[in-house]
Amino acid sequence: MDTSHDDATGHVRSPFDLHGRCAAVTGAGRGIGRAVALGLARAGADLVLLGRPGSSDDTRQAVLAAGGKADVVDLDLGDHDAVARVGAELAASRRIDVVVNNAGVIDRCDAVDVDLADWQRVLDVNLTGLFVLCQQLGRPMVERGHGKIVSIASLLSFQGGIRVASYAASKHAVAGVTKALANEWGPRGVQVNAIAPGYIATDNTTALREDADRSRSILERIPAGRWGDAEDIAGAAVFLSSPAADYVNGHVLVVDGGWMAR
Ligand code: NAP
Repeated sequence: MDTSHDDATGHVRSPFDLHGRCAAVTGAGRGIGRAVALGLARAGADLVLLGRPGSSDDTRQAVLAAGGKADVVDLDLGDHDAVARVGAELAASRRIDVVVNNAGVIDRCDAVDVDLADWQRVLDVNLTGLFVLCQQLGRPMVERGHGKIVSIASLLSFQGGIRVASYAASKHAVAGVTKALANEWGPRGVQVNAIAPGYIATDNTTALREDADRSRSILERIPAGRWGDAEDIAGAAVFLSSPAADYVNGHVLVVDGGWMAR
């Protein structure tokens, strides 16, 4: 574990302390990304919020109001040339210690009716955009021999789901990329992990919660007896971003109220 966490007063700082670290978070304007960004800021991290123009401004204001630091950088994860360019500029202009790949989209459709443009859009944002950003921000981490990458995967990194073929394909692939990068970059001091949230009440799951039968059947399977809140994911993100997780690598951490235990 990183022993630089002994501060000047001689007190041993918490292994979850992120003071002095800079974390880049994608899609931090709402839902899980916003909760994770605020959680990282509470743990002491400075933030770079990467998202579509204007989307992260409220989150930035909330971080500043709480005494933290946050900058906003415009980025559409579906535009891979922009991801490569913006990622390279960011990597060259400041030290990024943590990357949280949170941004994601879902397309709910019967498999036989899936339009290939919609299929591609989900893969573009959830998988290829994530990978290109990992390349750009991971390169200097590998060179420095220090860094953490945390991607938001899904229960559909393990399961097939219903009417979400492109999403399940993309999230299985996120788990695969996580393990592949962990294997390559672990020996260079960079830990690459993922979080698989269960059913969380965000815009991503509005359609499920508006379907009374589906919502009830989901709830019946969750041992915690409730849907998750976005804030339920923040602690796991702080953990995997922190020195406490220095020996955790290539792991997909399920945070699901017990769903996978059924
Ligand atoms: P959400 O409220 O729909 O948030 C999605 C986020 O992704 C928004 O900030 C959105 O930004 C951003 N985003 C989408 N497309 C983007 C693009 N092309 N470029 C940049 N940012 C983009 O849903 P959420 O539940 O918080 O989802 C966050 C992550 O958790 C996703 O990866 C999702 O797959 C995953 N997840 C969610 C659940 C759940 O139950 N909610 C479960 C498992 C995994 P805009 O505001 O600009 O659209």
